[in-house]
Amino acid sequence: MSRYMSRRHSSLVPYVPGEQPKERKFIKLNTNESPFPPPEPVLKAVAEAAAGLQLYSDPTCCRIAERLAATYGVSPDMVIVSNGSDDVLNYAFCAFCDEDNPALFADITYGFYPVFANLNNIPYTEIPLREDFTIDINDYIGRKGTVFIANPNAPTGIQLPVSEIERLVSADPGRIVVVDEAYVDFGGDTCLGLVDRYPNILITRTYSKSRSMAGARLGFAIGNREIVGDLQTIRNSTNPYNINSMTMAAGIASLDCEDYTRACCEEICRVRAYTGERLVSMGFEVLDSRTNFLFASNPRIDGGDYYLKLREKGILVRHFSLPRISRFNRITVGTQEQMDALLAATEEILKEI
Ligand SMILES: *Cc1c(COP(=O)(O)O)cnc(C)c1O
Repeated sequence: MSRYMSRRHSSLVPYVPGEQPKERKFIKLNTNESPFPPPEPVLKAVAEAAAGLQLYSDPTCCRIAERLAATYGVSPDMVIVSNGSDDVLNYAFCAFCDEDNPALFADITYGFYPVFANLNNIPYTEIPLREDFTIDINDYIGRKGTVFIANPNAPTGIQLPVSEIERLVSADPGRIVVVDEAYVDFGGDTCLGLVDRYPNILITRTYSKSRSMAGARLGFAIGNREIVGDLQTIRNSTNPYNINSMTMAAGIASLDCEDYTRACCEEICRVRAYTGERLVSMGFEVLDSRTNFLFASNPRIDGGDYYLKLREKGILVRHFSLPRISRFNRITVGTQEQMDALLAATEEILKEI
């Protein structure tokens, strides 16, 4: 750190993204990207938009916001578009938390939440998941603060019923509950049906996983128009041009390809079930996933060792050296072929030990 870094940020520990190796061709099952390319119309839209790059992108994002609103059955002023959903999550920490109103989230959840809290100088409490890695919503009810829930959760993959989130949202209209639905398209249940009835729920979504557009950086949030207005205030005070015109065009084109997206998600769910069963038959514990990844552990091998041995065989998964989950690995569900390679490598590794 230089001597010029502000005192406010001198102890900031940044988020560590999963590796994007350059040196060698890996089977990449470590960052929950889609194994499928974006559909043809998305590529075409990007090329067309590129021809107009001399102009600023639309700071109101009105065309894509209108299309998202129509797709998800809300009005356009209930939608804010962002540079990946990480961007709008950061706005939510900034807008809805402060010294007197801490952030509340699970001890095992998306690793970016504590980073956003620290960046914005917000106190936070990590609330332990139950022993079986499910959320007990009673731990949140009656506790002061803005709640962030990834649902389905990451890295566990476990879904919390919408009725439980509704219980939390309705118990205290004085606090906001942010539901991060990054993985909801892989068989999860959405809380979108709650946004018309409750002014204190915000739902964040991303194009990175189910829409095969991680590299485009596009996310959005849906909620009551007043809280979305607050987020727009933060956005317009940070970077009103946070979505570039190619990404915006790609995002609109993707909404014209719902059959393609659905087919990709269905294939991932099929391959997830197949891979999960095979891992269980090899002695793994596999949590019940509603996402495009599996969270798995095997009593015969340490999580860190399994990660390293897969890496030696050219397969990358994600291991977290954290207290309650170090025996697990998070394995992105790729194509059938990629998962067969993972399963074959795993068989070899288990034979070797
Ligand atoms: C991947 C992910 C996101 C966001 O990713 P973006 O690429 O920034 O849209 C948000 N929340 C969770 C839980 C994720 O796993």
